[in-house]
Amino acid sequence: MLDVSDLHVYYGLSQALFGVSLRAERGELIALVGRNGAGKSTTLKAIVGLCRPRRGRVVFGGRDVTGWPPYRIARAGIGYVPEDRRVFRSLTVQENLEAARLPERERADGWTMAGVFELFPDLARLRGHLAGRLSGGQQQMLTIGRALMTNPDLLLLDEPSEGLAPLLVQLLAERVALMKERGLTIVLSEQNVEFVRELADRVYTLEKGEVRYEGRMQDFLASEEIARAYLGV
Ligand code: ATP
Repeated sequence: MLDVSDLHVYYGLSQALFGVSLRAERGELIALVGRNGAGKSTTLKAIVGLCRPRRGRVVFGGRDVTGWPPYRIARAGIGYVPEDRRVFRSLTVQENLEAARLPERERADGWTMAGVFELFPDLARLRGHLAGRLSGGQQQMLTIGRALMTNPDLLLLDEPSEGLAPLLVQLLAERVALMKERGLTIVLSEQNVEFVRELADRVYTLEKGEVRYEGRMQDFLASEEIARAYLGV
């Protein structure tokens, strides 16, 4: 479904990605693991068109979408939840979700506001509240809900557990598992492997803008030397 090959990305003169390649098959959950500054966010941004690779290709659903602007990528079926939880602070929860709809991607069996409320009952309870008044965890759920309203085939989640209290991290992991059960393909970036060890089918580790390890989660966890470096970071 997603085939990223040999991405080279620069910020001005400084190179952030040095030939990153990764793929995700339909229904898979891929973990992109690495420390601060390893290039996780840049990889996701390059996939959704927020930064332009100098070299390399992003192929999605058989189409070369490299360099497409973000709105076209969203319409092609890639949803994106950025690290900084962008919500419209002066709109209500319900208005935030409504504003995210992409009518041309709506399908009978797709995500609706009711489906998002079912997944995140807190959001249903808070539907009339201003998004700016929500807690960090609730804003994270709303950002994910907004991405789901675009009915993506592939969802990119950039460090979704960052800054959340342990109980919320657990709840979020359960919700991500439910999204996967509903058939979403997911690429999730994370610093801490604990969050994804039960969720991910396959793992890529990134170091200094390069993929260092690629394999099944169970093999990754079994290869202690590699996994230890990323557990409990
Ligand atoms: P984090 O958890 O901090 O987001 P990350 O693995 O997502 O880490 P990136 O944010 O992709 O890493 O950063 C990769 C490299 O690119 C780092 O060296 C970072 O300093 C640099 N970088 C990221 N964004 C910019 C920017 N807007 N301008 C210049 N350099 C940047």
